[in-house]
Amino acid sequence: MEKGLNPSGPRLFYCDHHPFPLPPGHKFPTQKYALVRQLLAADGCYRLEPAPFAGAAEIERVHDPEYVRAFSDGTLDPRIMRAIGFPWSVELVRRTLASVGGTLAASADALATGFGGNLAGGTHHAFRDRGAGFCVFNDLAVAVRFMGRRAAILDLDVHQGDGTAAIFAGDETVLTVSLHGWHNFPFHKQQGAIDVPLADGAGDDEYLRQLKTVLPRIAEFRPQVLLYQSGVDALAGDRLGRLALTHAGLTERDRAVFAFARAAGLPVVVTLGGGYADPITRTAEAHTNTFRAAAQIFGWRATTGL
Ligand SMILES: [Zn+2]
Repeated sequence: MEKGLNPSGPRLFYCDHHPFPLPPGHKFPTQKYALVRQLLAADGCYRLEPAPFAGAAEIERVHDPEYVRAFSDGTLDPRIMRAIGFPWSVELVRRTLASVGGTLAASADALATGFGGNLAGGTHHAFRDRGAGFCVFNDLAVAVRFMGRRAAILDLDVHQGDGTAAIFAGDETVLTVSLHGWHNFPFHKQQGAIDVPLADGAGDDEYLRQLKTVLPRIAEFRPQVLLYQSGVDALAGDRLGRLALTHAGLTERDRAVFAFARAAGLPVVVTLGGGYADPITRTAEAHTNTFRAAAQIFGWRATTGL
């Protein structure tokens, strides 16, 4: 069998084949996306497919149509572009639409098979009418509206999912959950349904202890689908992280999430989220381990018949 083309394995969607220009020395770790795809292709456990583009109509179920239009046209307020942190380009628009489209395709897979994954997305700092922090559109929110199900969003990126929390504030059908560094970006936190702030330097034990108190609360909500923002910027030494998890701790985190979803019979949609270690291969390894953990917990049989 050709590597990366396991016909019985679940699919993962990628969009790193849509590069976009960044100035030299930019903090966005553009290389990690291809690295993760290459590592997973070498594993041969997943089918890797290019993400489709999300359509404006899908995005506008969450985002202000004027914001969507202005970003697409390159006429967005320069202050908002600066907050997003990327220079505008046609290539950035394509990459953004593919990143959201990957989460939508993964969501369709999750509803059909129990599991779907996007090797991008998790752009949780995007609000209804503006982006921030390397996030243009909130793929998690767009996916929730696309699926139309009672949903829990478990955001384990080290930065609070502030855009997601704000978008779903007051929505009783969506539970937003975020474990995050208290002294980290975004410095003005939003109120989600469940927020777990962590002190600088928190390590595996503290993190896993907190996660295990949160999972039963998600079960109590009785969601029909779980969206997992699996950012790995809680890794020790991450340039933007301030926490101190190990690779083993992150894997234990991922295994706990997938075991929870499996036990609850919850379809799970995995998105990538942040990770900024130096060297970036440390981050790529951690992201790859997330999908390895899913394969271990769900096993192959969970996705046969795709
Ligand atoms: Zn982050």
